[in-house]
Amino acid sequence: SKLKEGLTKTRNNIVSGIDSVFSGFSKIDDDFYDELEETLIMGDIGVRATEEIIEDLKEKVKENKIKQPEECKHLLIETIKEKMNLGENAYDFENKQSIVMLIGVNGVGKTTSVGKLAGLLKAQNKKVIMAAADTFRAAAIEQLTEWSKRTGTDIIAQSEGSDPAAVIFDAVAAAKARNADVLLCDTAGRLHNKKNLMEELKKIDRVIERSYPEAYRENLIVLDATTGQNALSQLKEFSEVTNITGIILTKMDGTAKGGIAVAIQAEMGIPVKYIGVGEQVEDLQKFDSDVFVNALFD
Ligand code: GDP
Repeated sequence: SKLKEGLTKTRNNIVSGIDSVFSGFSKIDDDFYDELEETLIMGDIGVRATEEIIEDLKEKVKENKIKQPEECKHLLIETIKEKMNLGENAYDFENKQSIVMLIGVNGVGKTTSVGKLAGLLKAQNKKVIMAAADTFRAAAIEQLTEWSKRTGTDIIAQSEGSDPAAVIFDAVAAAKARNADVLLCDTAGRLHNKKNLMEELKKIDRVIERSYPEAYRENLIVLDATTGQNALSQLKEFSEVTNITGIILTKMDGTAKGGIAVAIQAEMGIPVKYIGVGEQVEDLQKFDSDVFVNALFD
């Protein structure tokens, strides 16, 4: 599958390390756990997530009276899966009249993800509208317009430099008038100017609260998996600015740092909802932790 193919480097990075730990130790002792811990951290699983995984694993090993490393491998896989469990309501917005904001720094794949998500929702016969609220870069508006044509999705856009909240105001009016299911909003990602970004997102919130308070809200942060631990810091910073309800992890194809999916979910408790595995419209997948972990270890 495309997922498994895309995860080859991540799999090699994590699994080859883990395999050598499991085969390199004849009994389960502190050295074994130390080595396993180091391997998971090197695989971008994250310090906190790794510590939790090791703690849980130790308990399971005790409970099951396991002595041989090889025998606890399935317990490790099970524990990683547990750390990544999504909430049950992860995709509720798909079945409600909703406003989905895509947030994140430039270059992570925000505009592309708006396009792919539109494609995915349209394939479910949803009525979708895109809002080009990244008015900071003319290229972002042009690029989104291309995606709207490619996916046959309506787009609401103004000229470069216009007020993003004004674009959202128009887009909300269109969404209501046309009875849209999902309004997908691209936004500008100026994290280096945190105060402005916060003001901008607050203003957008006020516009939505005033003109469409009954809409179901979803704020998805877009993170580039190839940036590894940087993605985690971006998530922390944006969480201080706005309420993030989920993650789209892009560029999972070809990176060795896919372990970041585990780190993010376990450290921040925010679910990864979609992963990007390429640049085409079909290259966005719903994130399934079981499928993901199985693709890593099988
Ligand atoms: P934005 O600045 O956050 O809106 O980022 P863009 O949507 O413009 O994407 C930046 C670049 O990343 C573009 O060249 C995209 O084609 C590419 N890109 C986005 N998502 C993925 C992905 O999942 N896989 C790969 N390989 N490339 C991606």
